[in-house]
Amino acid sequence: MTDAASPKSAESHRLVIRNIGLLLSGDLERPILDADTVVAVDGRIVSVGREKDVDIGNAATVIDARGTALSPGLIDSHVHPVAGDWTPRQNQLGWIDSYMHGGVTTMISAGEVHTPGRPKDVVGLKAMAICAQRSFNAFRPGGVKIHAGAPVIEHGMVEDDFKELAAAGVNILGEVGLGSVKDGKTARQMVAWARKYGIQSTIHTGGPSIPGSSLIDKDIVLETDADVIGHVNGGHTALPDDQITALCEKSSRALEIVHNGNERAALLTLRTAKELNQLGRVILGTDSPAGSGVQPLGILRMISLLSSLGDVPAEVAICFATGNTAKIRNLDCGLIAPGKAANFVLMDKAQHSSGKDLLESIQRGDLPGIGMVIIDGVVSAQRSRNTPPATRVPEVITR
Ligand SMILES: [Zn+2]
Repeated sequence: MTDAASPKSAESHRLVIRNIGLLLSGDLERPILDADTVVAVDGRIVSVGREKDVDIGNAATVIDARGTALSPGLIDSHVHPVAGDWTPRQNQLGWIDSYMHGGVTTMISAGEVHTPGRPKDVVGLKAMAICAQRSFNAFRPGGVKIHAGAPVIEHGMVEDDFKELAAAGVNILGEVGLGSVKDGKTARQMVAWARKYGIQSTIHTGGPSIPGSSLIDKDIVLETDADVIGHVNGGHTALPDDQITALCEKSSRALEIVHNGNERAALLTLRTAKELNQLGRVILGTDSPAGSGVQPLGILRMISLLSSLGDVPAEVAICFATGNTAKIRNLDCGLIAPGKAANFVLMDKAQHSSGKDLLESIQRGDLPGIGMVIIDGVVSAQRSRNTPPATRVPEVITR
């Protein structure tokens, strides 16, 4: 571990990562950069380029990537956190730290809906959202940044409630449809109020996920017009094919594909988005913890699934989980570019993968091996305890 606060706390902390074998930008327009060096100061990227062309002096931390690939930290667009690093869904501790070992450096809450005794009255749901926003802002298991405090809309909410939530720091809604509001007309009104005050929205799509949840079909999704079509591939039960293609064609909103959804529907969504030349709308989440459990490698598994069976290059599939999500959700990470957060995953092909290199191994359906995770310029983990072992791993050289 490196500590940005010591020993020279008054000085800025300069991090240099050199000898990068493959630089994955997270940007769909240009997923691979011609560069081998990244420099960050105080948790922000300041330069990206060839080692001979960038200033690598005065570094507090130097990392030799040893020819491995560097990508932006992965973003899980759909999680259901509750409190701290505990989930009551399968009663597990330390799940967020485990996801960090799967390359996830940022998470977006789709509602703290698993909270035991979740309040459903308007005052109670607002209080819970503000509490979750504050606590996850202050608590980062494994360094992971968790955007939480995502209230689920209920009947009885008025415009002032959204204004009040926004003023209190809430900027995302939990999945529309998980509360009492399940009709398109009411949902559309509340989503519009939320948007007016800068609160982004996501809607549950497909069949009920657990007893008590319900069906949201394409007509409700289109009428509501939330910013993100949450788990367009179902969570787990997917809509019929013609409804999924209609959502791709008739809406311009984000198409969120999740691990805890229907894999066939995931591939249909990907294919349709590709045909429409709208791959920029595709973002990835796990929709976990859930009935299917905690999935530390869920985002990596989605990248591998979509690349290997959906016939997209691995460097493009990585953009779905990084730059695409960051752009759609207005995050300051997810891209390797000056000014962005210094969140990185260094990886290599897993030992004994039949692929000749990292990208080919993913395109063949294997998972990459993670050798290091860096969040805000600080090393959070070295060789991942969860992925198959990487062939080569980076080395920290602190001077
Ligand atoms: Zn859902």
